[in-house]
Parts: sequence; structure tokens; C-alpha cells
Amino acid sequence: MFTQAPRGTRDVLPEEAGNWVFLENKFREICHEFSYKEIRTPVFEHTELFQRGVGETTDIVEKEMYTFQDKSGRSITLKPEGTAPTVRAYIEHKLYTQPMPVKLFYIIPGFRYERPQAGRLREFHQFGIEAFGSDSPHIDVEIMVLGIMFLKNLGLDDIKLHINSIGCEICRADYKKALKDFLDESKQNLCNTCNSRLNRNPLRILDCKNPECQRALKEAPVVLDYLCDECKAHFEAIKNDLSLINIDYTVNPRIVRGLDYYTRTVFEIISEDLGAQSTVCGGGRYDNLIQECGGPPTPAAGFGMGIERLITILEKKNLLKIPEEKVDIYIAPLKEEYVDTALKLLYSFRESGISAETDYLKRSLKAQMKYANKIMAQFAIIIGEEEVNSGFYTVKDLTAGEQQKVARDKIFEYISNCIRKGCDKFE
Ligand code: ATP
Ligand code: MG
Repeated sequence: MFTQAPRGTRDVLPEEAGNWVFLENKFREICHEFSYKEIRTPVFEHTELFQRGVGETTDIVEKEMYTFQDKSGRSITLKPEGTAPTVRAYIEHKLYTQPMPVKLFYIIPGFRYERPQAGRLREFHQFGIEAFGSDSPHIDVEIMVLGIMFLKNLGLDDIKLHINSIGCEICRADYKKALKDFLDESKQNLCNTCNSRLNRNPLRILDCKNPECQRALKEAPVVLDYLCDECKAHFEAIKNDLSLINIDYTVNPRIVRGLDYYTRTVFEIISEDLGAQSTVCGGGRYDNLIQECGGPPTPAAGFGMGIERLITILEKKNLLKIPEEKVDIYIAPLKEEYVDTALKLLYSFRESGISAETDYLKRSLKAQMKYANKIMAQFAIIIGEEEVNSGFYTVKDLTAGEQQKVARDKIFEYISNCIRKGCDKFE
């Protein structure tokens, strides 16, 4: 049992780790282009932060949090998402005293006790960005565009942007009432959770994945018909910006997202390659969250993007072709007594930035060469009796299969040259 990773978690093995580093670098690059700065917050927070920040009636807080008591009896929760912790850090460190907007990004693990399935893990990872301090629709668009550009730069040209507005507290109240009145008629078709949501937070029902509930919603009133003039204008401005910079989008009035903090804009970036869990990126505006968490009134917007889901799409489309890492040089001592010489060479190569490996298992020459090929070494230096007695080493070009003798005191210089400039000495 203990030799198996816990359900819903997975290891990233060495052959996959390169993909993660590649994507993390690409994400950092685009954040830099858009002037977002990295923030790192703890893996766990006080449970109350998520109860307040994510919302008591969300799936996350109702049933998915990894919550435990630490040895002092505090209630601690492994972070299920990145926005609430970022907001907490923004308030705690008074980042609101900096010039606005404060634009942040992060790469985090997230923990949710969900039913594991394709695209749904209990420990997953996210790229996320948040922009604090502006209620301009241009910021909402910037956030969408950063996500879209990042994915397009990776070669994903058939992703779809779905947008919606869920209004402000004022106009949403009218919509909530209309939705509740409508759903009261078909209560018996809603799942138990949605029945209890009907009185507490009917909007959440739009996000329910149960097909029965989705059917009951077919003729339901649409939030966009209830927006007040300001919210309508904000949404129109977003659509204008997107057209201005030629970003295709679909207005999807069913999107509410799984977190309670959103106001006005919500959006999803969708890939058909993902099957049921088709959302690779979800985000929106949350103008009240910072104040609700005890900070000064600060409009804000952001997104979260699932890294595992992203990797699934890229793998399906064969867009992850990170070359395996090669080793520059393999040093093969043929006898125990040459090990000291091998080690000295090994560390002088490594010190000068040339990757080098040697034998730690007292293997025969044949076995060592087999290993050298396996780790994709470019060159091998053989240190044997004949070599030592006559003051040279044998250098093998493992790609070309050729070899030649190099004077002992020239070996370092010779190999460095070969690695740096390519080797033209094998005639
Ligand atoms: P979904 O509707 O797919 O459950 P969500 O509304 O819970 O998504 P967010 O909380 O907005 O999603 O998280 C943003 C992104 O993080 C998602 O679009 C998805 O790519 C990823 N994500 C969320 N939960 C998981 C999970 N359990 N496993 C893997 N990825 C996840
Ligand atoms: Mg979810």
C-alpha cells in the first residue's frame, strides 16, 4: 500500500520532468512580457481563508478541502487554489501601497478531494495570474489574452475562449431571484446538493455537472438579460477589445465558474482534446474579494490554468518534443588504480560546465561502454594500462564511432575544444 502514491496523485518521472521545466519557463517568459511578477505562497493556509475567500457554498469548501488540525489545534488547509492565498499575501504585505495595478503570477500545486478521473487529480498544478487595483475591462482582456497567447505560442491553435458576465451584487440579486423562481418549479429534477443550493446560492446550480440538473436548466433565465447598465457596458468593452485585437470568442451565458468570488467577467479556455474535463483555464474578475478578506476595496481579476490538463492536450497533439538530455563525456577507468585519475578528470570537466559521468560499479569496459551509450554520452575517455604506460588516453567519439589517442596532459583542453567547437580532429 505505502509503495503506491496516494489516490489522485502522480509522480513526474525524469523523462517527463523536462516537459514541466519547459512549460514553466515558457509561462515565466510570457508573464515577463506582460509585466507580471512571481509570487510564492505557502502550501497550507488557515482554513478560514478559503471558507471566506472561496465561499462556503462552493464544491471546494463544502466537500473537497484537505483540512486537518496541526499539533497546536489550528485548522489548516492545503491550498485548493491560488487566488485566496495571493490575496492574503497582498493584504498582509500591504502590496496595495505599490503603484497600481499590482500584477502577480504563480506556479503552484493545488489540493482537492475530488473523484480522480482523466483530468481530475487530488494534487494538481496550476499556472495562475492576478492583477490587483484596476476595474478596467482592458485588464480582464489582458488576462484572457495572456492565457490565449501562452497556449497559441505552444502550438495550440484550436483552443476556444468562452466569456460571460455574472454582473455585480446588485444586478445579480435580481437574476438569482429569477433563477430560483424558475428552478423552484422543477425542484424534483435537481440533485440533492442543488436542492440545498436553491435557497443558499442558486447560481452554483449552473455549475453542477449532474446531467439531470443541466437538463432542468435548459430554459432557465439567462444572466446577461439581467445586467445593470454599468455591468453591460463593462462586458461590451471586453467584447470590443477582443475584436480589436482579433481574438475569437464565444459568449456562453452558462459559465459561472466553481468559485464564489467572481463578479462581472468570467471566462474559460476550452480544448476539445480534453473530453469531459475540457476547461484548461478558468478565470474572471473578483472586485469584492480583497475587501471581504480584510483589505482595502480593490478591484481585481485573474485566471488559473491546469498544468496536467495542458500537458494532456500537448501530448495528444504531439507538441511536446523536448530532446533528452545528453552527457558530454563518459570517463572509463579500466582498473581500480585508475579511479583517482578518472575522478580528477570528472570533477575538472564538471567544474568547467561540461557534463561528465564515470563508473561507480566496477564494470568491465564493455559494460561501461554500454552504459555510456545509454546515457547518450558524446565522448568517452578510456583510461587503461596501455594508455597509462605510454602517457595517453583513448578518446572515443561515440556518435561517429571513431577513436584516437590524446596525450594525457592535453586531454582536458582537447575535450573542452571538442565539446565547445565540435570535433574535427578525427580524420
Ligand atoms: P472544473 O470545472 O474542471 O472542475 P474548476 O472550476 O474547479 O474546474 P478552477 O478552480 O477555476 O477550476 O481551476 C482552474 C483550472 O485548474 C481548471 O480549469 C483546471 O484546468 C485545473 N483544475 C482544477 N481542478 C483540478 C483537478 N482536480 N485536477 C486537475 N486540474 C484541475
Ligand atoms: Mg472543479
